[in-house]
Amino acid sequence: MKNTRLVYSTDPKENVKCPKCGEIVKECECPPPVELKGRNFVAILRIEKGGRRGKTVTIIDHLPKVEVFLKELASEAKKKCGVGGTYLMDGKEGVIEIQGDQRENLRKLLTEKGYKVKGS
Ligand SMILES: [Zn+2]
Repeated sequence: MKNTRLVYSTDPKENVKCPKCGEIVKECECPPPVELKGRNFVAILRIEKGGRRGKTVTIIDHLPKVEVFLKELASEAKKKCGVGGTYLMDGKEGVIEIQGDQRENLRKLLTEKGYKVKGS
């Protein structure tokens, strides 16, 4: 079927080039941006106490600073733990904050997704 390499199409949308590799999107083999599985990062889990009302939160630190990724992971984490939480992109790395001591739940979630986790 695919014996001809189509370089230009009459449809202008098909001639859009990938910003990463410069190939036209149809020929591009770059992984989609949301797919971060297997990326080389190690999430760090830790507990923080304090804040305005002295509440405990679980922090997942050292995450890729990619908003779609953080948003999705934060919502999965909230669902898994049944509590509120948020993600932050103010620092050098992405951070997710989940209410309460959720280290065990979050460690499980991250491991299931194939991410490496450190911290206690
Ligand atoms: Zn590409």
